[in-house]
Amino acid sequence: MSVLAIRSLSKTFGGVRAVNDVSFEIAQGEFLAMIGPNGAGKSTCFNMINGQLEPDSGEILFAGRDIAGLEAREIWRLGVGRTFQVAATFGSMTVIENVQMALISHAHEIYHFWRASAGLHRDRALDLLEQVGMREAAGRPSRELAYGDVKRVELAIALANEPRLLLMDEPTAGMAPRERNDLIALVKRLVVERGISVLFTEHSMDVVFAFADRIIVLARGRLIADGDAASIRDNAQVREVYFGTGKTFAGAAP
Ligand code: ADP
Ligand code: MG
Repeated sequence: MSVLAIRSLSKTFGGVRAVNDVSFEIAQGEFLAMIGPNGAGKSTCFNMINGQLEPDSGEILFAGRDIAGLEAREIWRLGVGRTFQVAATFGSMTVIENVQMALISHAHEIYHFWRASAGLHRDRALDLLEQVGMREAAGRPSRELAYGDVKRVELAIALANEPRLLLMDEPTAGMAPRERNDLIALVKRLVVERGISVLFTEHSMDVVFAFADRIIVLARGRLIADGDAASIRDNAQVREVYFGTGKTFAGAAP
């Protein structure tokens, strides 16, 4: 059964059909990449699924329930997590306090700084930090972390909410190729263990082809392809959109 089913989703900005009659599904535990040139409508899709934007029309069925137009907070509560939003961590707090805060919020408890400092959910927070390779940094102020380490902590924070579906719009933006590969490898390992479904965008075709279970392609608001890496690589319409005809994805730069 699909965790997410998008049906005929559309959004227009002024005269621009940013997302035009898009339909696709994500299965339980699936690692699904959404690709497409800049302006294809990827972020608009993400923002309708996570509740930041209201669709003009269409359905967004999450675990069988239409969540289109619900408040972002409610969608997050239902189990649609997001990672890598700007300023998701609070710089003045330590790394572990940020994760404890997420665990406290997930448990519907009221956050007070003294609860975190008193050690509420401390073991679970340390365990999550261990899993993203950040346990050693637990006591450091978040603002001191390097960029790639912030992303690992944000992943721990997203997992603290125990999502069924994780949305990651350009999670590796601004990262070097090696770091991109490592972050997506880490995400994939942790979500596979948990059976979490993922929808992500990524500019590096190497990363997409290496990790995605399935790939969907948007171009000018329309879904033009949906399939595994081999079928997308060989799809003439997809190549046309990316390179003009004739060229291939081999060695495509990020
Ligand atoms: P992508 O994430 O694939 O690069 P976007 O979803 O950001 O694409 O944008 C799709 C189209 O919608 C683009 O033409 C973009 O200029 C337009 N667009 C996106 N957001 C807005 C907005 N808030 N207001 C007006 N136009 C927008
Ligand atoms: Mg975008």
